Amino acid sequence: MQTVNPLLQLDDLIDYAAIRPEHAEPAVRHWMAQAEKALEAAESPQTPAEWSALEPLGEAFGDLGRAWGAVGHLQSVADSPQLRDAFNRLLPDVTALYLRASQSQPLYQKYKAIEAGAGFAALSPVQQRIVKREIRDFVLSGAELPEEKRAAVTRIQQELSALSQKFSENLLDATNAFEFVTEDPKDLAGIPEETLSLYRESARAAGRGGWRVTLQFPSYLPAMQYCENRAVREKLYRAFATRAAEFDGGRFDNTPLIRRILELRAEEASLLGFPTYAHLSLATKMAHDPEEVIRFLLDLAQQSRPAALRDAAEIDAFAREKLGIERVEAWDRAFAAEKLREARYSYSDAEARRYFTENAVFRGLFKTVETLFGIEIRPAAASVWHPDVKYFQVFRQGTPIAAFYADLYARAGKRSGAWMDGERTRAYRRGKLQTPVAYLVTNFAKPAPGRPATLTHDEVTTLFHEFGHTLHHLLTAQTEAEVSGINGVEWDAVECPSQFLENFAWDRTVMKSITAHAETGEAIPDALFSKMLAAKNFQSGAASVRQVEFALFDMRLHAGFDAQSDDPMALLDAVRREVAVVLPPAWNRFPQSFSHIFAGGYAAGYYSYKWAEVLSADAFEAFEEEGILNPETGRRFLKEILERGSSRDAMENFVAFRGRKPSIEALLRQTGILAK
Ligand SMILES: [Zn+2]
Repeated sequence: MQTVNPLLQLDDLIDYAAIRPEHAEPAVRHWMAQAEKALEAAESPQTPAEWSALEPLGEAFGDLGRAWGAVGHLQSVADSPQLRDAFNRLLPDVTALYLRASQSQPLYQKYKAIEAGAGFAALSPVQQRIVKREIRDFVLSGAELPEEKRAAVTRIQQELSALSQKFSENLLDATNAFEFVTEDPKDLAGIPEETLSLYRESARAAGRGGWRVTLQFPSYLPAMQYCENRAVREKLYRAFATRAAEFDGGRFDNTPLIRRILELRAEEASLLGFPTYAHLSLATKMAHDPEEVIRFLLDLAQQSRPAALRDAAEIDAFAREKLGIERVEAWDRAFAAEKLREARYSYSDAEARRYFTENAVFRGLFKTVETLFGIEIRPAAASVWHPDVKYFQVFRQGTPIAAFYADLYARAGKRSGAWMDGERTRAYRRGKLQTPVAYLVTNFAKPAPGRPATLTHDEVTTLFHEFGHTLHHLLTAQTEAEVSGINGVEWDAVECPSQFLENFAWDRTVMKSITAHAETGEAIPDALFSKMLAAKNFQSGAASVRQVEFALFDMRLHAGFDAQSDDPMALLDAVRREVAVVLPPAWNRFPQSFSHIFAGGYAAGYYSYKWAEVLSADAFEAFEEEGILNPETGRRFLKEILERGSSRDAMENFVAFRGRKPSIEALLRQTGILAK
């Protein structure tokens, strides 16, 4: 019997339960062919340079994006060797097609002609914005340059991506090259049993006896926090802090790569007409120029400094009095901090999680956002990829406006972590308004049959975070895909709604509404809540200046730094002298493992972590001022931020909501650095 390929049916919800791995390739190839045809039509001289003439292109790429997104999603949550093979066969071709569209000269000329044409004034402001942004993106990939310079930009980008790859490989190899194996239990005194069993397993897997500690984070971190043997901590720290550097013969040395990466980035920026790479990076972000970011970071450093000094002094005093450590070295700090935390703020995670029963958490979360944003969330039936997956519809005044799938539990074949992805975007599709759909994915432990599912508070905040992204995608009021939901939102602003909603999971009123003890049904007691809050803010001053140190180093490295003559290590030392309250040993080689900026997407963008935290804390403070569940404040946040997508600059959204530009004080208050 010939069955229909579910991935070819995109008019309504996708029939996920019916998808088999062999459906992926033919369906995606079909939508690729459609997109290619639409691209050729758009490029053709016969096609007029008009907005409406390019609409089929957007729709065709929208269909491809949705089918390809569904395949990628299934690969993340229900992997199988056949599906992975199909995905990997498709990946290079899909990537090539998107690249071809983003570099098409005829398409670029068409957008320019639309902007210059008589019809441009008749377009809506949002459509005009989209045209301008398309042009900007073409320009940023070198479309305005003469052929030979454009080729140079492409060459630079290729070399940069190879260098980033090499940087990661070096770091990985350097991380893997180290092991500490011991058969003497005294070496590992103080380390919790569950970590020790991890070490034993690691030794066994390596064909050794005893315990094996590596520099992988889940292995390294607990050793630094709990190991009572100071010499062992020093040995581990030294290995960790000098990874991928010139020591040990420099087998995996990233130093020359750093220099070359910075050189190439500066060259790319200059070819594209920017004074520095930082200016190029910020061209698509909410922050305007490096000076604005540097001012922001220095302000944050200065305001966090007294708290950071207090935090450091507190550790020093505790280490001296209780641990007999006269001078706290870099390898003592995490250990002493953990001991101090236990002494002062400890509560049992196991005890706390009995209050966060899954039903209570979801009921409270839904109630919160229903009150704030005037919506109603109801479970509904839909075809899903796994029996545990739930489906919900979102209503406003009885009308369905959006929907989402919630895939909550960890299982084999599912990638770890938590995330939100758009399944389809709110937009007109062939004249009909398509409502948005999202995937909400977490990896909570599935409860044993007959027992209530409970979450740790960490998991609760993760859920709130991802639900903030989900609402940003679902509650959009936009009808052009390019600006709808989270599409096109500035990189340093896109975490605002997620971190914003996370703050609610730390509010006393909301905390009461999301807790119901697994046995007694009681809401969380005040004493436990206060302890959790204090533990959250423990050492927050120290953490704040450390993040500023990394972000300031990143920004200065990409703004006016001369990669040929200046030394990155000397720059980092200068930044540390400027903002740090605790200095690491001189042989610490942090830049060589700073993969966020050398092998991730965070170059001249590391500040965005703090930037988005400031936006979300300040937005949340409006609710603290006007009433935590005040529907009017909620509607204003909905109207000025969530509904806008990228149809307006993120800064304008923020100012429209808050009545002024963001200020850093709210974050400092929320993290306990300033008094409330
Ligand atoms: Zn996020």
